[in-house]
Amino acid sequence: MPRALVTGIDGQDGRYLAELLVAKGYETFGMIRGQNNPRGQIVRDENPAVELIEGDLQDLSSLIAVVEQVQPDEVYNLGAVSFVALSFRQPELTADITGLGVLRMLEAIRVVGGTQNNRIRFYQASSSEMFGKVRQTPQTEETPFHPRSPYGAAKVFGHYTTVNYRESYGLHATSGILFNHESPRRGLEFVTRKVSNGVARIKLGLQEKVTLGTLETARDWGFAGDYVEAMWLMLQEDEPDDYVIATGETHTIRELLELAFAAAGIDGWEKYVESDQRFMRPAEVDILTGDATKARERLGWKPRVSFSELVTMMVEADLEEEAHRAR
Ligand code: GDP
Repeated sequence: MPRALVTGIDGQDGRYLAELLVAKGYETFGMIRGQNNPRGQIVRDENPAVELIEGDLQDLSSLIAVVEQVQPDEVYNLGAVSFVALSFRQPELTADITGLGVLRMLEAIRVVGGTQNNRIRFYQASSSEMFGKVRQTPQTEETPFHPRSPYGAAKVFGHYTTVNYRESYGLHATSGILFNHESPRRGLEFVTRKVSNGVARIKLGLQEKVTLGTLETARDWGFAGDYVEAMWLMLQEDEPDDYVIATGETHTIRELLELAFAAAGIDGWEKYVESDQRFMRPAEVDILTGDATKARERLGWKPRVSFSELVTMMVEADLEEEAHRAR
């Protein structure tokens, strides 16, 4: 049985990836931080086959112990401070976990792997936020980075550290540059879920308005369930590499709002949406569009769920969840 270790097991992607790995017959270990972390229970309830193991991306010795104990064939580093807005308020913490955390995990693999470094395959969750103020459109693996937030800057550090460990020590270290990916499991702080949840609550009479920041930005949004499959496919390749994972389609927040309100059968979304300075950021990423040609050609990967299907899926899930909660 192959063995996989996943950091960030309690996040959106960790939960989807764990399901995929268990279904593929992996012995799956999820790293979880903190003392008696309540989020562990969500993972246990959802996926009892996953074994949780304590460790922290801020603590190298804990990572060495985890890698030694698990003896993984594959390590997926999904743990991070993942919210751009929070990264502006806690930049040092973001640099430490989202940036240095990658270095610590690679060191743990290098130390435990000894001379057989490439025995353990490593996946780094890199991000389209690295492209930031985009230098070309669409963005590919060759597009220069220009991060616009402490989160983006930390992800650039993590990406180059992954490439560097591949080149310096021969580690099987791969970087997946994933564009925004969403699902009913997305945190409520991200704009897609904030909208789908807000729409559901408005429909049920539990809330009057959704308050957002800018409505002018645009993203290449895909479905997280499709994207974790790409992560797994990358690690099945003989050679480590970098891959952009995206749909190639860009939509504005206005389009998101239009589709989400329509999915709940509500006309005239403008009446229900207001904008507040509180949700604006010191610097913005205006528009992202990914080109996943390399992933399609090498890995045979392509997204299955369209943007409108994704938005409908999220609104329907929130309608059900909010109705259940209100009962
Ligand atoms: P990001 O692309 O990783 O920053 O993902 P988010 O979902 O957090 O934000 C996507 C875009 O939506 C960004 O341009 C945000 O500035 C914009 N946005 C507008 N209003 C909001 C809001 O209320 N919450 C969030 N999270 N983003 C918002």
